[in-house]
Amino acid sequence: MKTQVLKPTDEALRLAADLLRAGQLVAFPTETVYGLGANALDSAAVPGIFASKGRPADNPLIVHIHDRKQLDGLCRTNDNALKLMEAFWPGPLTLIMPRKPAVPDAVTAGLETVAVRMPSHPVAAQLLKACDLPIAAPSANRSGKPSPTTAKHVFDDMDGRIPLILDGGSCDVGLESTVVDMSGDVPCILRPGGVTKAMLEAVIGDVTVAGSVLRPLRPDETALSPGMRYKHYAPTGQVTLVEGDEDDVVAALALLHQQAVQSGQTPCVMCFTEHAAALRDCHPHDIGSRDNPAEVAHRLFDTLRRLDDEGMDAIFSEVMPPEGVGLAVMNRLGRAAGFRSVQARDVLRAEATAP
Ligand code: AMP
Ligand code: MG
Repeated sequence: MKTQVLKPTDEALRLAADLLRAGQLVAFPTETVYGLGANALDSAAVPGIFASKGRPADNPLIVHIHDRKQLDGLCRTNDNALKLMEAFWPGPLTLIMPRKPAVPDAVTAGLETVAVRMPSHPVAAQLLKACDLPIAAPSANRSGKPSPTTAKHVFDDMDGRIPLILDGGSCDVGLESTVVDMSGDVPCILRPGGVTKAMLEAVIGDVTVAGSVLRPLRPDETALSPGMRYKHYAPTGQVTLVEGDEDDVVAALALLHQQAVQSGQTPCVMCFTEHAAALRDCHPHDIGSRDNPAEVAHRLFDTLRRLDDEGMDAIFSEVMPPEGVGLAVMNRLGRAAGFRSVQARDVLRAEATAP
């Protein structure tokens, strides 16, 4: 199959809407990451998403809408869900609600709930309006790769697998939406994102955070969100997070880089803008200012993809406090590292006492 990449002109949007109505797949930009869409109510079209991504069938999809009237055919809402929609839609917030029977099992992976979001990106909004269908759309990457934040990332993963990519430039937020389960007594953040815990609590009061956001699932633990079971966002090289006081971290990054060079590896560091000059001999990838988590979020996936393009096999990264958007950054970075971390002090002490 030939994959076309088109700017979102009126003609391209019409073509995209026609493809979606005909049961085909279209990749399109949203404010979070690029999505790979199919008609959510077409049970013959949805499996194509899983096949082209290599996505496990038990990982459910997010349904995208442009008008709240579409909710009637999809799910049951409640007061808190309506308040969050009022406050954050259109925007990077996905709500999990009890499903209605019209939603195919393939979309929900057989669960009794469905995930719904109204994106704010103008191209996504125009496309959803043009086809006037609820569109099931996970991130438009091959499963296990970092989510795509440019049309080129999508093309790199999906060339030959889908007929059309709408190119709307690079995505603003750069991390996937916040996912909140609204189906229980207390709303629970299953995946942190651009809409933070504090922002949600300002509207509806107490919200909990799923335990597995900052650590791996325990073998006996059921995943509240099936996607949490899978390795995600991982570059081919091993990522190690380096924690501790600022000066120690910078010194430890330089030392770990040097040790990796000596052992014949091709290492690099991921560091904040503030430390890029001090680490200039360590192949630094500047992930943004440590005072600006939104900038780090915006750059993270592109950086992770570049590490693969450059053939890096040992990557040492700084960390940020898991607060606000920093929680979303650390969730993705933690998973990219398989939650492998070292204390900067221990690294420096081991070097000082080495024979
Ligand atoms: P993606 O679209 O690739 O960003 O992934 C969607 C995420 O939403 C995955 O982590 C899914 O596991 C999660 N998700 C979708 N539907 C549900 C649901 N009904 N219950 C819990 N998690 C869900
Ligand atoms: Mg994804």
